[in-house]
Formats: sequence, structure tokens, C-alpha cells
Amino acid sequence: VSESGAAGAEETAAPADKTPKKRLVVLTGPAGVGKGTVENALRKKHPGVWVSVSATTRKPRPGEVNGVNYWFLDDQQFSAKEKDGEFLETAVVHGLARYGTLIKPVQEHLAEGIPTVLEIDLQGARRVKQRAAELGLEVVYVFIAPPSFDELVRRLKGRGTESAEEVAKRLETAKVELAAENEFDVTIVNDDVNRASEELWGIIAKEYGITE
Ligand code: 5GP
Repeated sequence: VSESGAAGAEETAAPADKTPKKRLVVLTGPAGVGKGTVENALRKKHPGVWVSVSATTRKPRPGEVNGVNYWFLDDQQFSAKEKDGEFLETAVVHGLARYGTLIKPVQEHLAEGIPTVLEIDLQGARRVKQRAAELGLEVVYVFIAPPSFDELVRRLKGRGTESAEEVAKRLETAKVELAAENEFDVTIVNDDVNRASEELWGIIAKEYGITE
């Protein structure tokens, strides 16, 4: 191989290096911080973003639709998928129900260059971190933080869909999860849903090289 040949190879490789990396966006944050609300606002304003539909063993809340909000499975169905290696990660959240990200749709959307977001709990995000290299996944980890701890308590109590026991459990989890912020690449403070979702969009647009 001549010297000029080697230089030529470098020249052809150079443009690829400038291409923005299309990393999977993993969104997490303590219970009650409003990750779901931020994610919904993002989806509404930027429908080109695909948010993974998780599987869960918890019962649907009023208005939730199978295949839209979650894939609602029973314990047996969830275990079968786990056994078949269909999950990127799974976690028992608040000690109450099992949740998991189905790996295939995530890989398919990423392969098509579609902005792909997971909205999962902290355990799940850590599991993705452990497995990313093995699966050839590149990931940007985004932490959604509350403006203050008092505000988080207020939001957790205000949701009104959980029993006092569940609220207490979520508060305990939230305290532990707040301390994990430094494990993440970026923090977004959810002081205002629209502002926070636009900040998230900014991160996604940069990752996927979207200008609009
Ligand atoms: P909810 O039951 O209120 O919809 O969600 C409870 C928690 O489960 C939220 O913190 C949410 O981020 C998390 N969650 C939802 N889907 C998944 C998933 O696929 N994996 C993990 N690890 N957590 C999830």
C-alpha cells in the first residue's frame, strides 16, 4: 500500500467522523418529577420522535391503551418474554410491578435513524449502561430533576392516583434516585414542562442532526 493510498483512505473516512452520532436517548428521573409529562409534550410538538412502548405487569390506569401507553402483560407473559431475551432491560419499580423495554423495536427505529427515546426508571437506565457496549448501542443519558425536593413531594402527593402507601414508597425511591444525578450526561430541570421538553428536543435535534 502506497503512502498516497493511506492518505486517500483517511480522506474518505473524514466526512463520516463529522456525521452526528445518532445515540439512543435514555430519559430518567425520580418518581413524580414529571418525566412522562415532559415526554408527552415532546411527542406532541415533535411527532418525529419515537418513544419506546414498554411492557408492564401493572394494571392499566383509566384512559391508558394497550400498545400505546404500555404493553400490558400478566406475570407469565412478561416472564416468557424475559426468558426469550426480548428485553433490553427490566426492573421492578416501587416494588409493585415489572417493567421492561423491548429491544427489537428500539434497534429497528435506531437503524432507520429515527430519534429514539426510552423513558425508564433509574435501575433500568443503569442496566442499559451495563449492556450498551455488548449490544453496540450508543446512548445519551438524560436526568430530569425537580426544581426542589419540596416541589417533588408536592407533585407526588398531588397526582392523586396512588394510595398513601404507594405515595410513601415513591417518596423513598425518589430520595435515593435524586442522588444519582451525577451518573448522567445531562440534567434537565423540570421547572416548566414546555421549557423542559424544548431543552430535551434541543439535545435530540443535535444528536440526530435535525435542523428546523
Ligand atoms: P408508571 O407506572 O407511573 O407509568 O411508571 C412508573 C415508573 O416506571 C416510571 O418511573 C417509569 O419511568 C418507569 N418505567 C416505565 N417503563 C419502564 C421500562 O420499560 N423499564 C424501566 N426500568 N422502567 C420503566
